[in-house]
Amino acid sequence: MIQIKHLSKKFGALEVLRDVSITVRKGEVISIIGPSGTGKSTFLRCINLLDRPSGGSIVINGVDILDPKADVPAIRRKMNMVFQSFNLYQHLSVMDNLTLGPVKLLQTGRQEAEKKALELLKLVGLAEKADSFPDELSGGQKQRVAIARCLAMEPSIILFDEPTSALDPTMVSEVLAVIRRLARDGMTMLIVTHEMKFARDVSSRVLYMDEGVIYEEGPPEQIFDNPQKERTKIFINRVR
Ligand code: ADP
Ligand code: MG
Repeated sequence: MIQIKHLSKKFGALEVLRDVSITVRKGEVISIIGPSGTGKSTFLRCINLLDRPSGGSIVINGVDILDPKADVPAIRRKMNMVFQSFNLYQHLSVMDNLTLGPVKLLQTGRQEAEKKALELLKLVGLAEKADSFPDELSGGQKQRVAIARCLAMEPSIILFDEPTSALDPTMVSEVLAVIRRLARDGMTMLIVTHEMKFARDVSSRVLYMDEGVIYEEGPPEQIFDNPQKERTKIFINRVR
């Protein structure tokens, strides 16, 4: 589903990603862990074309997304991203947050969009909040709305950038439960996270990133119980 080869990204002289290559199959859940400042967010942003890669190739469902002729908005719709800071539209109700994209970009009729939105709010346990505004919600609720809004666009891949880092500890599990559910339902996901227990449970593979490279990758049992390389060992021992 995703084929990334020799991806690099520089900000001026700063080389943030170096020769990153990975293939992701449909239905895989990939967790990305590693120290801060090592390029994890930049990696997701390059996949979603929020940052323009400096080199390499990204092919998604057979489409070379770095081709100058690629339909960037269409690519972004298929590959929605959930951010640490929710990024909800503050001036819109929860319902309008969920229907805006489908009505404007997918040409879904309003009635159908609202029906779908209610189903998605049920899925994330927030059907009763349809008419609330974002500032009336807790952090965990906001993030669940953000996930529902993402799903409303019917993505085939979801990119999560530290979806629980801005939350009080009491709210982390309600958000992780929604992501676990998506994993069970077969959604293809790349998840940057510091929640190690969650990453171990939910992932088909874990990427340990360090200084702009995928330093070690493997099944969760390898990365968390039996890391093969020196810096992975140090990191895992520190976060355990
Ligand atoms: P992580 O998500 O692993 O913490 P980031 O991808 O956010 O790391 O950042 C990696 C490096 O790239 C950092 O040194 C950061 O300061 C730098 N960086 C990120 N975005 C930009 C930008 N827009 N301009 C310049 N430097 C950036
Ligand atoms: Mg980051």
